[in-house]
Formats: sequence, structure tokens, C-alpha cells
Amino acid sequence: MTQQKGAFEGRIGGGDGLEIQAEAEVRAEQERHRLLAGLPQLGRLLEQEGIQRLLLDYPRSWVSDALRGLLADRRGRLKAGEEAEIWAVDSERWETKAREKLEDRERPRLVRVINATGVVLHTNLGRAPLGRLACDRLQDLAGAYTNLEFDLQRRERGSRQSLLESALCAVTGAEAALVVNNNAAAVMLMLQAMSAGREVILSRGELVEIGGSFRMPEVMEVAGVRLREVGTTNRTHVRDYEQAISAETGLLLKVHRSNFVIEGFVKEVEAEALVELGHRRGVSVMVDQGSGMLMEPPAHWGERGWSVRALHRAGADVVTWSGDKLFGGPQCGVITGKAFWIKKAAKLPIARALRVDKLTLAALEATVQVYARGDDVAWRDIPVLSALSTDAEALYEQAELWVQRWRDPLKRGGWSLSWEKAEARVGGGSLPALTLPTARLCLGSEVHSVSLFEGSLRARTIPIIGLLDRGCLWLDLRTWLSGDAEVVLCLFEEMAEAREGLQSHREKRPHREK
Ligand SMILES: *Cc1c(COP(=O)(O)O)cnc(C)c1O
Repeated sequence: MTQQKGAFEGRIGGGDGLEIQAEAEVRAEQERHRLLAGLPQLGRLLEQEGIQRLLLDYPRSWVSDALRGLLADRRGRLKAGEEAEIWAVDSERWETKAREKLEDRERPRLVRVINATGVVLHTNLGRAPLGRLACDRLQDLAGAYTNLEFDLQRRERGSRQSLLESALCAVTGAEAALVVNNNAAAVMLMLQAMSAGREVILSRGELVEIGGSFRMPEVMEVAGVRLREVGTTNRTHVRDYEQAISAETGLLLKVHRSNFVIEGFVKEVEAEALVELGHRRGVSVMVDQGSGMLMEPPAHWGERGWSVRALHRAGADVVTWSGDKLFGGPQCGVITGKAFWIKKAAKLPIARALRVDKLTLAALEATVQVYARGDDVAWRDIPVLSALSTDAEALYEQAELWVQRWRDPLKRGGWSLSWEKAEARVGGGSLPALTLPTARLCLGSEVHSVSLFEGSLRARTIPIIGLLDRGCLWLDLRTWLSGDAEVVLCLFEEMAEAREGLQSHREKRPHREK
């Protein structure tokens, strides 16, 4: 203290005004020191009654961390002159604030959200939600030992890969199957297995980037194969592939354009024609199908011949697809095709690095079992397929009911509610051109800030993700899952009550699921 005062005096020298200013500074400095000196010691805080209560609920080191954080925060504020109040050692605020920190520390970072975006396969929202059967299976197996690699009949080591193989073959029409971590891994593994050190022929119209770092040319480099591009961006003919085939050729590859469309003067070679060429010239054909759509979709989806089954019927040697896109299962990559190639791939060292765990296999098996019961069962019980096939009229009706029930109560809370017909997208790199008619609820307000409100929805225990457009918040009904309506109902109740404004429902504890 004295040292600092001395430093001030030494610096300023003469002039009355300057001296007065310096004195004020010194007083402020003294006051800061008084406040800082008033900060309690960590040891004393740990002994106080409220903090002792915290110690019953949380490990001592966590409580200490929380208090240290609070002390540092207080010190910073006092130093910066942002606050001028001493919290006594026995203040209740230490407990309250520390409890908040401790609760936040244990709050899961990965949480259920409500997808009200109308994008059925939203990559940012974790793609496909699992169906009931898969969830039940996970519940049964997650905390248990399993026969993951134990042959129960022979009492010997078994293979995790063979558990699901025959079921996958039955629903796809393939001869063999292998499951890896995701479709990117499936493509990489198969390129290596089928064409290491050799050329892979691919149309320039299919040199795609699926997002992030999955770009076909780079994937090929990593897999140790050489890319041989043929055709042009918009047009590729069978003769382009044929002329490129040489002694160097290891594979003909076809990649689904999952996230973009090429329109106009276009020509691509259908899988069937490519298979015919490959087999005539003794070259294998692989199709990166992507979506995992097993059966032929309705005609208006405009995707004839792209189902996994159709590709196998056409004779593709290998088809790779994602488990968590239109197939509606867990994240994984499924490789279906000729046993020769699949056996070869399974033996590569890299296959081990790409293998899946029991939870993935459990969810995948349950999903496959839904398909095994028939296409109609899959359209009903696979959540993404059911969301995509819901009749628009049914959604319009639901929207109308919501508006009739809630327009007046919400109005009293300062909100307007209406609905509108709109277009929902499939998303998730599956069917870029397809949109489906849908219904969206529209929340607007003259008194509340809609964008603040949108932020508050994302901060809830079960965040609700909608769309901001034209000054309103839109909640698309097509992507709601079972149980979501109840959560929105609770929200509307809060909004109807919260006449005094936003604050009240932001701070209110969100409702828990029953
Ligand atoms: C989605 C997709 C991929 C990547 O699949 P992931 O499961 O995300 O790794 C690769 N190829 C195509 C054609 C796709 O649609």
C-alpha cells in the first residue's frame, strides 16, 4: 500500500489539480483493497453451514472448485470496480451460487431436443431417432454382459460381425454384410479392399463432398487408390467408363448425389448399365448408396432404382450405406454385397479400427427386425420413414387443432398463434430434391422479442428448435416425435400464463417428462 502511494507521489510531482486527482485515485485504491481484504478465505467458507450442506451432495473437490471460481469471480468484479459489496463469510449467496455451479457441472451436454425444423434428417440434430424396438433393446443390453463375441452354442469365441449378417442379407437381398462405424468408413474400407494401388473410375458428376472432410478425391487418396475421372460434370456416358478401363482398373464406382442436384442437360449412367459393363469387362462395381433406403420409395420421390435392394437386384458387387439416414437406425456404415469382397475387407487391419460396439449392433439388429416384418411395418415403425410418409392433410388438421385450442390463451400472454402450409425437407444428405407438404405453427408477438424467445427455447431442459422467419418463430409439425407434443403443450401453458413478459418463462423451471 505505502509502496504504491509512494509510486503515485513520485510520478505526479507538481500541480494542484493533479494532486487532487491522485488523492482520489489513492482513495479508490484503498477502498478496493478494503473490499478485496474482505473476501473470505476458502477454508472458512468450507466450514460454513450452507457449504457443509453442499458437501453432503457433492465431492469436496468439486465444492472447492466451485468456491474458488466464485472467489475469483468476486475478486475480478471488485478489482474492476463493477461491484462494491462484500459477501460476508456466512452469506447464503455462497451456497446458492456454488450450488448453481455444481448443478451446471453435472448437467448433461448431450440432451434430447425437439426438432421443429421440418428437416427430417437433420445432421446437426443427430440424424435418425431410433424406433421403439431399438430403444428397448438398448435399455436391455447397455448395462449387461452380452454374447458380443461369444458363440453360445459352441462355447467358443464368436464374431460380432456374424451376429447380424444373415438378417442384413435377408432384408437387402445381398450375399454378405459387414458393419463399420459410419458410411465414410465403409467407403474407405471397401476402396482399399477392392482396389488398393489401382484405379477407381468415377464420373466427374459424382466427385462429391458429403460435408466436412468427406470429399471423394481425398477419401481415395487415404484409401490408397488412384482416382480416374471420366465424363463431365453434367454428362457421363457408358462409353466414358468403357474407354477408361485398362489393366490398371480396380473398380467402377458410383456415388449417390445425396446433397445436391444437377438439372438441365444431364446424363448419368444408371447402376444397372454400369454393372452390365463391369461384368462384361471383368471389373467389380461398387455403389455408395448413402441413404440406406432399403425399399423403393413412392414414385413422387423421383428416386427409382436407388434403393439398396434394387442395387443388389441389379447385380452391384458392393453397396455401402449409412445406418442413421433413411434406414432409420444407429450411426454406422453398412456394407452389403459379394461375400468374396466382404471377407477380404473384414481381414484388413483397418477393419478392426472401424468396428462398432454392442450398442450399435443392438440398435441396428432391432431396426433390421422391423424391416424383416415387412415394408408396411417399416413405414409405420421407423420414425424417419413414418415422419416422411405422414399425410399432409393429417398435419393440417393437427395444426388447426393447436390453433383453435391455444390462440386465445396465448393471446392473453401477448402471443399470436396461426399456422401455414409449407415444404419440409428430407435433409441429412439423402434426397436433396425432395420436399414434402407440411404444416407449421407460427408464433408472433407485438410485445415480446421473438428472437429472445427463440433463444430461450434453446436454453430449456428439452430445447425446442424451430425456425426464425419473417419476424416469427415457426414450429414444423412433420418432424415431431411421440412425446414432443406434450413438451410444446407445457410451453404454451407457460406462455399463456406469462403475461408480464419473457422473463417469467425463461426463469421458470422447465417441466420434466413424465
Ligand atoms: C451420407 C453419405 C456418406 C457419409 O456417410 P456417413 O455415415 O455420414 O459417414 C457417404 N456417401 C454418401 C453417398 C452419403 O450420402
